[in-house]
Amino acid sequence: MVQIGLDIGGTKIVGAVFAPNGEKQAQRTQPTPSSYEDFLSACRTLSRELAEETKMTGPLGVCFPGGIDYQAGTAEVANIPYLNGKLVLRDLEKSLEREVRFQNDANCIALAESHDGAGQGARSVLGITLSTGVGSGYIVDGKVINGANGLAGEIGHLPLPFREPEDGPVVDCFCGQKGCIEKSICGGALSRLYAFMTGRQAKPEEIAALASTGDSGARAVLDRYYEVVAKAMIAALHSFDPEVIVVTGGLSNLSALFDEVPKRWGKYCVVKNPKTRFLKAAHGPLASLRGASLLWKEGM
Ligand SMILES: [Zn+2]
Repeated sequence: MVQIGLDIGGTKIVGAVFAPNGEKQAQRTQPTPSSYEDFLSACRTLSRELAEETKMTGPLGVCFPGGIDYQAGTAEVANIPYLNGKLVLRDLEKSLEREVRFQNDANCIALAESHDGAGQGARSVLGITLSTGVGSGYIVDGKVINGANGLAGEIGHLPLPFREPEDGPVVDCFCGQKGCIEKSICGGALSRLYAFMTGRQAKPEEIAALASTGDSGARAVLDRYYEVVAKAMIAALHSFDPEVIVVTGGLSNLSALFDEVPKRWGKYCVVKNPKTRFLKAAHGPLASLRGASLLWKEGM
């Protein structure tokens, strides 16, 4: 059975059909409309076009970049506010005349990595998106674990464990707390750490470029950043103990991240030599779409 997914974004909606082996058979894009009615209609158009092109039948998976209430069938998406409070799952099923499952995008990325990405073959995979924010999803035996509140695997709003003054400024988080993991390891946190340690301003990619040319200040900042990420991963190891942690997002391009973090996390862990593998994601920008398409795979 082919697998179809829709990826809802703030500026565009992308739909694709994949063969069971992961090969993409068709892809279509629509700009994200400005009203709920037009949103449903854009999703219907994408689904119809893809169905005509590939003779696809059957249900469809959708991923949203926000919080989902799986029991109510609603999504909270900050940059598409007209979705908030709507019975989006029911309305999509009615509009598309197909059964629909939906998930948060970080969960879809984790699912894709678990199914045919870096976590393939592992029974438990925590997928972490490390970019301007921190999203994560927890997959066990090929299934997304949502939990009672859609929070399973969401380490971003736990406090950073074992924090020391050298780990950089403690800043307010949108969740209402201070010192969350998200605000300690996201791209903005790396820039804050750089400013804190050097007195200068730089974006994460500029810090990485400086470090690669041998700049001692940038190297020291990245060294500390890897220590902070190792502390953050302890929250994941002690809560979920996954066989594999897969990292995607802009900061996964820091080439030393995948050697340096596991070198450091043992000293914060009650098990001094954790077996968890810490890996760069194998899927590129289509990971969330691939994950959405897998929401109906056999056995889920
Ligand atoms: Zn927070």
